[in-house]
Amino acid sequence: MSVRDTFNKHLLHPWSDLPNLGEDDSTPVIVRGEGVYIYDDNGQRMIDGPGGMWCMQTGYGRQEIADRVATQIVELGYSTAFSTINPLEAELAQRIAEKTPGDLNRVFFTTGGSTAVDSALRLCQLARNIRGEPQRKHILCRDKGYHGSTYLSASVTGKERDKTAMDTAVDLVHFLTAPCAFYQEQEFASEEAFCDFLIAELEAKIAELGPENIMCFIAEPILGSGGVLVPPKGYNRRCWEVVKRHGITYIADEVVTAFGRLGHWFASETLFDVVPDIITFAKGVTSGYLPLGGYAVSDAFMAEISGDNAEGNCYSNGFTWSANPVSCAAALESWDIIEREQLLEHVRDVGPYFQAQLRTLMDLPLVADVRGMGMMAAVEMSLGSDAEGEALLEQDYHLGDLIDSHCREFGLLVRPLINVCIMSPPLILTREQVDDLVSALRKALLKAQEELLG
Ligand code: PMP
Repeated sequence: MSVRDTFNKHLLHPWSDLPNLGEDDSTPVIVRGEGVYIYDDNGQRMIDGPGGMWCMQTGYGRQEIADRVATQIVELGYSTAFSTINPLEAELAQRIAEKTPGDLNRVFFTTGGSTAVDSALRLCQLARNIRGEPQRKHILCRDKGYHGSTYLSASVTGKERDKTAMDTAVDLVHFLTAPCAFYQEQEFASEEAFCDFLIAELEAKIAELGPENIMCFIAEPILGSGGVLVPPKGYNRRCWEVVKRHGITYIADEVVTAFGRLGHWFASETLFDVVPDIITFAKGVTSGYLPLGGYAVSDAFMAEISGDNAEGNCYSNGFTWSANPVSCAAALESWDIIEREQLLEHVRDVGPYFQAQLRTLMDLPLVADVRGMGMMAAVEMSLGSDAEGEALLEQDYHLGDLIDSHCREFGLLVRPLINVCIMSPPLILTREQVDDLVSALRKALLKAQEELLG
């Protein structure tokens, strides 16, 4: 049986298209990766546009990571954070604490992003109980935000399908408007006016629920899976100010934006002037080589819920692979590569070029919007409006899939999300490779344009 036949018979992938389950004829079979490139089973080389799932920071085929991981497996292939300490988790936690803002000096390790968000939310629940505020149950989050696939992290996820397809903790969560003017039906006179609207909405929601009933606000600095939504200038800072003024915990979900994606170890303070109480991370921490995630929490937050304040309590939350030493080895080596090859500086240099070159695609009629920052970007496509002003593009019109299949022909993999192509390439992408990526995308868009618009 071919790999595809076996896949169709035996595998269930994340976000599987259920009506067509078992009939897939287009998902590429990827057999090898090197640098920014991946190769399919026909030998077709493609730039990995989405960088795995926003995570291949240092690129494919890193012998250094392989060697460090192999050495670690032989030395100590497993240790449990339930009852032992491994030196690698200690070193990684210290490095993270040094790079996170403020007094975020305590790190909890998980197995990925969903478990990081889930664990952070559960820490907040425990904290409010220890503080004697059991009524503080509500969580503020945003439409189009993505935070994971476990029950609690999916509950704070604001993407339409995630909200409706399965049960979520709906009674706990409140969704605010996605901070992206592109999706607004209302017109705003300026970016500032749009930001004022969002902040007023946040203030109003807090007043409605009562600040004393709100546990936390959780937000990605830039919404990733929701379509790379870059908020209006000052939005993150202003949200943080409002939230802190009301004594509500601020969680920055940096699962995508950390570890160099925006040219810094963490983006919250450096780029958005925000010092969260908790920052979640995952993905790029190991350059995607092994599963690992976690959160960093402030000393001030922990001081309130430890020592004499915490009589009779323990943080009953954790995973068999929390702080797995082999994953930590991959993370430490990826970190060393980022430093050795000055990849943060590289992103700060090539990122603006990447963004500028992608924006040249705006001259194509199919392209409705290009947005992004650093090494994360989205190209949104639209067929425009018909004579009655009705959008021709239906939610289920998979323009993204069409572009994706054409892109592959021209040597690029993109991640289609309905009618948006999401990009978050390995941080090592050079200017020449940016040119190749944009050129492949242009060819694919022109081909789709020819087919759709004639
Ligand atoms: N938070 C954010 C911002 C994410 O983008 C993701 C994954 N796309 C997650 C959490 C969940 O991470 P994981 O898939 O590792 O569980």
